[in-house]
Amino acid sequence: MSAPTVARAIVFDPATRELDPRDIPVREPRSGEILVRVRLSAICGSDLHTIRGRRDPGGPLVLGHEICGEVAALGDGADADSLGAPLSIGDRVTWGIAASCGNCFFCARGIPQKCVRLFKYGHAPLESDTPLGGGFAEYCHLVPGTAVYRIPEDLPDREVVFANCSLATMQAAVRMADVRAGESVLIQGAGLVGLCATALCADRGASPVVVADPCEERLTQAQSFGATHLACAGDLRDFTEDVRGFDVAIEACGHPGAIGDGIEALRIGGRYIAAGCVYPGAIAQIDMLSITTKLITLQGLHNYTPLDLQEALRFLTRAGRRFPSASVVREVLPLEEIEDALALMEGDPSILRVALSP
Ligand SMILES: [Zn+2]
Ligand SMILES: [Zn+2]
Repeated sequence: MSAPTVARAIVFDPATRELDPRDIPVREPRSGEILVRVRLSAICGSDLHTIRGRRDPGGPLVLGHEICGEVAALGDGADADSLGAPLSIGDRVTWGIAASCGNCFFCARGIPQKCVRLFKYGHAPLESDTPLGGGFAEYCHLVPGTAVYRIPEDLPDREVVFANCSLATMQAAVRMADVRAGESVLIQGAGLVGLCATALCADRGASPVVVADPCEERLTQAQSFGATHLACAGDLRDFTEDVRGFDVAIEACGHPGAIGDGIEALRIGGRYIAAGCVYPGAIAQIDMLSITTKLITLQGLHNYTPLDLQEALRFLTRAGRRFPSASVVREVLPLEEIEDALALMEGDPSILRVALSP
């Protein structure tokens, strides 16, 4: 395969909220970089928020960060993945949602996901050094500091494309909450993020795993991801009146109003992970008496570390088929049909992902 000179890409302009197909010049990968041909790029809820104007990306850009692709060209020194496996042209790869420098204040303190020089895929301005930094394009540059992993052969693109966002983030959540076998878990939100948390908790032997969401259509899928009980949001008391409360709650719904309820539903010494409210002004009302007197641990989660993506891939290989991972991506459409893909997702709340294939 010879390296391409231009790549078709969908450019989103926040000023007009338009999505325009454009040809973007492809530069040779620099030292430490990898040029990837995008095989599949799923539309994440956060892409939808940006496109509909609920989040401001700052300027025109190529969106898309739930991506899998194949190596198209390797820069000097970029000849192995992050586990040391040699990389060749054509190898299928997935990679961390963000690249970090490895030596700033936060990287040095074990928080690479908050690197001061963080590069986030699907967030790079068109005017930057790396305009091909998102998934809604034929090609994507992987910059130095990106955790890159070869995709195991038996994992098809559709079953792995969400690993580097929803699944790896929720792997970070269950790691931080240290969810153990036999513990009771409340998952708030039955979108893909919540369902990934459900599957990971079920895989760890947690029980019961209660999934709460006001949308019944979304809740119906939760059982196949390992939920033992379903709750329409607001009626959590059914689950906590006779028992001591949940050991762990994971907020994956993005509604600040749910946080107080989730904390109320925890037992003494319970752990709460807040992961969904990633927009300004998400003000939650919390009775601090609960936090203080119930000795609650409340922890925020945003992005994840390379180890979480490694674990997510191991989980998919080992246990992914126990859950409907093959049905996460409901449809695959050509890149230029992105508007149809968005309409599909917005028209049916039971659709977890629609993906684009350049
Ligand atoms: Zn995402
Ligand atoms: Zn750094």
